[in-house]
Amino acid sequence: MSQFKLQNVEDYYEIGEVLGSGHFGQVRAVLERASGVRWAGKFLKLRRNASSRLGLERLSVEREVEILQSLQHPNIMALRDVFESRAEVVLIVELICGGELFDFIAEKESLSEDEAIEFLKQILKGVAFMHSKHIAHFDLKPENIMLADKTVPHPHIKMIDFGLAHRLTPGEEYMSLSGTPQYIAPEVINYEPLSEAADMWLSGLSPFQGENDEETLKNIVGMIYEFEDIYFSQTSAMAKDFIEKLLIKDAVERMTAEECLLHPWIKPLTRKQAANRSRSSINMKSFKKFNAKRKWKMSYNMVWACNRLFRLQLQCKNRSLEQPELVRKLSMDWSRPRDMMLSGLYYYHLD
Ligand code: ATP
Repeated sequence: MSQFKLQNVEDYYEIGEVLGSGHFGQVRAVLERASGVRWAGKFLKLRRNASSRLGLERLSVEREVEILQSLQHPNIMALRDVFESRAEVVLIVELICGGELFDFIAEKESLSEDEAIEFLKQILKGVAFMHSKHIAHFDLKPENIMLADKTVPHPHIKMIDFGLAHRLTPGEEYMSLSGTPQYIAPEVINYEPLSEAADMWLSGLSPFQGENDEETLKNIVGMIYEFEDIYFSQTSAMAKDFIEKLLIKDAVERMTAEECLLHPWIKPLTRKQAANRSRSSINMKSFKKFNAKRKWKMSYNMVWACNRLFRLQLQCKNRSLEQPELVRKLSMDWSRPRDMMLSGLYYYHLD
C-alpha cells in the first residue's frame, strides 16, 4: 500500500487556476511555496465508502501512482509528490504548458511527413519504454498526448493520464471494457484478454468514426474503415503500410512499439525511402476537420452531462426525486462509455 503524505497540500503548494478536468477531478496549476517552482496538481476525489459508486477507489489511485513512479521517461509526465486527505488524493506532477499535440498541429498551415514522424517517434519511444516495463496505458488518444512547450522549435511530447494504465503480469489474464469508443481496440470491445498491443491500435484519425458510439464500436469490430483517396493522395506508400500494420484486428499480429521504431517509414534504410518521406505531407484539410469534430464531440459530451445533471437536480429540488435516487441515476451513467461521462462536476455538485 502506497504511503501518501498526510499533511495539508496547501501548506506546501499554493493552488492556482484550473488547467483541465477529467472523470475524477480537476487538474490545477500549483506553486511550490519553498522553491517558487510551478507544478500541476491532479485532485482525485476518493470514494467515500464501499457502497458508494462516486469517486475513485483508493486502490485505483495507488495503482496510478505506482505506475507513474515506475515510468521515469522524458516523454511521460513525471510524478513529484502525493498528498492524501479524507476526501481526496492530490498528485503533484510536472506542469505541461504546450496543450494538446493535435491542437498544435491543427493550427499549422502544413505538416510534412518528416515533421509528423518527429512527434510520432517521441510517442513511440515513450510507449516502447512503458511496454518494456509491461505497463499498458489503455487510453492512448489525442487528448492524452501533450506538448511540454509549444513555443520552442522542436516541441517535446509528454504522455498523460495513466488512470486506466495497468501493469500486466505474465501468465495472468487482464480484461477491461474501459477506453474511448473512437480509439478502442477490437479486443477491448470483445472483452478478450488484453496485452500491450491494445495501445498500438492507434489510428490517430479514427477512420472508424460512426454516427454514434454504437456504430463506431461496430465498425471497429467489423473492421469497417475507408482510407479515401482524396485524403491520402499526398501520403507516401510507406506511411500507408505503417498505418495498415497497426490497424490489424489480431493483437498478436500488430506491430509493437519497438517494431514501429524500426519500420522504414520511421527509420528509412535508403536515401530513396528518406526522400519519399520528405516529399509527402499530411492532408491538413482533413486533419483540421477531424480535430474540429473531435473537439465538438468533447464539448457535446460536456454539455450532455451538464444538462443531465441539471435535469436530475431539478427533479431532486421538486422532490420528485430523492438524493439517493439522484445518486443512483448518476451512477447508472458510469456504465456508459467513458467519453460520454463527466468528471468532477458530479462530485462537486453532490458534496
Ligand atoms: P480522464 O477522465 O480523461 O481519465 P483524468 O481525470 O485522469 O482524465 P487527466 O486526463 O490526467 O485527468 O487530466 C485532465 C486534463 O487536465 C487533461 O486533459 C489536460 O488538459 C489537463 N492536464 C492533465 N495533466 C496535466 C499537466 N501535468 N499539466 C497541464 N495540464 C494537465
